[in-house]
Amino acid sequence: SDDRIVSPAERGDEADTTIRPLALDEFVGQQQARSNLSVFIEAAKARSEALDHVLFVGPPGLGKTTLAQIMARELGVNFRATSGPVIAKAGDLAALLTNLEERDVLFIDEIHRLSPAVEEILYPAMEDFQLDLIIGEGPAARSVKIDLSKFTLVAATTRLGLLTTPLRDRFGIPVRLNFYTVEELEHIVRRGARVFGIGMTDDGANEIARRSRGTPRIAGRLLRRVRDFAVVAGMDAVDAAIADKALSQLEVDKAGLDGLDRRYLSMIAEHFGGGPVGIETIAAGLSEPRDAIEDIVEPYLIQQGFIQRTPRGRLLMPKSFAHLGLAVPQGAGA
Ligand code: ADP
Repeated sequence: SDDRIVSPAERGDEADTTIRPLALDEFVGQQQARSNLSVFIEAAKARSEALDHVLFVGPPGLGKTTLAQIMARELGVNFRATSGPVIAKAGDLAALLTNLEERDVLFIDEIHRLSPAVEEILYPAMEDFQLDLIIGEGPAARSVKIDLSKFTLVAATTRLGLLTTPLRDRFGIPVRLNFYTVEELEHIVRRGARVFGIGMTDDGANEIARRSRGTPRIAGRLLRRVRDFAVVAGMDAVDAAIADKALSQLEVDKAGLDGLDRRYLSMIAEHFGGGPVGIETIAAGLSEPRDAIEDIVEPYLIQQGFIQRTPRGRLLMPKSFAHLGLAVPQGAGA
């Protein structure tokens, strides 16, 4: 599903990071997270101490990495980044940790994908800023403790339930990120247009914002594609008409749903009478990994009231049938 135009997964065309906000007050939305973070950052700076470890939880593309970078900047410290699947061995993490300076920010994306052996190393590092390593093998093996700089771990995960409890408990500052409102996304789209040097009418920004699945990364990607259409059409400003034309051509519909979203909804509507149907069945029917469906497809469909998660499986809401142009079956929905 990674070639979906509305996939929040990262793609090459984002090597262009010019629209990434660099300061907390340039960062649009997530008001509560921002105001809490700014208090904690100020307090840590006033005490000249490392900030407590922070855990960002939320769907991909909502700004977790961006916020981690901003925090390092505002704290005036180095930013080091890695991700759960990249850290193969305990030694890899040990190497990263021993290279940190006082108060540095270490960002670990997809922390739920750390191996248990690596997680073991992380506990004492987070708690006591110490590494417990076993050197050598057999009778000659001995354990050594290495002191680390007092650093801040900023970690990100798509779902809190994927973390082990001991790991979750070691974060002093959990921060949940939510989908953005249309107004916030309009703001991000207008700012992006200014950075790209293209004109943007209010209704053009609104059209792109409404179809961005509540996600800044998607807003940025749609903006780039719409810009291409506008340039080819010889327009110097993006309006709602050219945005609609571009997005329809890219198969992003009026609700911002793409082909996979619609396949998800129509499969449950047409083959399971609207559900409830289990996630494994849905994943098999769509030939998509269960994780991708739970992390990328479902959160937005739930937030927008297209589906509900029930103990017996996923249930289509009347809104979905309306969206697909189908009649609501007798007794379906909630
Ligand atoms: P995540 O780490 O949650 O997957 P990122 O931090 O990588 O998301 O953000 C994805 C893209 O969206 C980046 O290009 C970033 O510049 C942009 N972005 C995210 N949040 C915002 C925001 N609040 N305002 C403007 N741009 C944002």
